[in-house]
Amino acid sequence: MTIPFLDIFVGYRELKAEIDSAIARVLDSGWYILGPEVEAFEEEWAAYCGTAHAVGVANGLDALTLALRALGVGCGDEVIVPSNTYIATWLAVSHCGATPVPVEPDEKTFNIDPELIEAAITPRTRAILPVHLYGQPVDLDPILAVARRHGLYVVEDGAQAHGARYKGKRLGGHGDVVAWSFYPGKNLGALGDGGAVTTNNPEIADRIRVLRNYGSRVKYVNEVQGFNSRLDPLQAAVLRVKLAHLDQWNARRATMAEQYSSGLAASGLILPETPDWADPAWHLYVIRSARRDALQKSLTALGVGTLIHYPIPPHLQGAYRQDSWATGSFPIAERIASQCLSLPMGPHLNDEQRKQVEEHVIQSLRS
Ligand SMILES: *Cc1c(COP(=O)(O)O)cnc(C)c1O
Repeated sequence: MTIPFLDIFVGYRELKAEIDSAIARVLDSGWYILGPEVEAFEEEWAAYCGTAHAVGVANGLDALTLALRALGVGCGDEVIVPSNTYIATWLAVSHCGATPVPVEPDEKTFNIDPELIEAAITPRTRAILPVHLYGQPVDLDPILAVARRHGLYVVEDGAQAHGARYKGKRLGGHGDVVAWSFYPGKNLGALGDGGAVTTNNPEIADRIRVLRNYGSRVKYVNEVQGFNSRLDPLQAAVLRVKLAHLDQWNARRATMAEQYSSGLAASGLILPETPDWADPAWHLYVIRSARRDALQKSLTALGVGTLIHYPIPPHLQGAYRQDSWATGSFPIAERIASQCLSLPMGPHLNDEQRKQVEEHVIQSLRS
């Protein structure tokens, strides 16, 4: 029996009839850019997140980039980012002409360590960009407090945390803007690229609406140098179908995480820890082992798909070569990169498969 790390197709197959009819509705409407389907999804996503506004954009990277642009982040500015994240978080800052300033994570939660942020603030800092990594909500209150003290914006990267709650309240409106990705593998995934921002600030929402559409509110009147980054109505229609299932899928992920944690409690692996104020979305279930590479190899041989999120931290990527970060600059991020392993996680897996994963992990650690 092989157990795939992820199977996107299962998500479509389960909802095929509903998704096919939603897609047909868009095709038959004759409306293929923005329009009623995108507006309906924006309303539903804002309502789900408990925010006043949602704006659909083309993908998660654009959601981050347009959020920063809407806040006026540009050349010469600095934005504080986690040292361990998917590179999109850093690229969004760089694409605004600003500089990402990395801060190390708390090794227990994998999320940016709020206590290290203040020391990284300079007169050029404009914003803090925490990431709710692996679906675990960041400890936002201390970050919002530092931001308030220094007059900084807080933009959250929610790409892995659809539906997660911080102190009982869904993510989406704690900071100034939250950026979302609907890449197919995310907890709420389209059947192609998609993204959105949520905010309670009507001016920020309005600026992003204009920026995503060539800087234009009225056709052929261009107020600012905007972008073409619109959520596709076909994807909006798919997302509306899937949104109705998100809570149920997340609940299934939470049960799986709980079962993994009890099944692997005696394994000697470092398992995810969840603070009591957090209701994670369990995008990934990430374990740590000093013998990670051997463990992954053995699991592959046993037919268990795993992935590493992420093998190379952004500061050591060719993309940031010009910044000349040395190996050892961010030792926590580097240690996590060398030890972390993501086990199969998601509603595509059944109980039996989850048990098999546990058994194969334990068997691999013994050999
Ligand atoms: C997926 C992801 C993104 C980027 O989303 P895209 O839609 O692929 O552009 C940004 N940040 C994080 C943490 C992600 O996981």
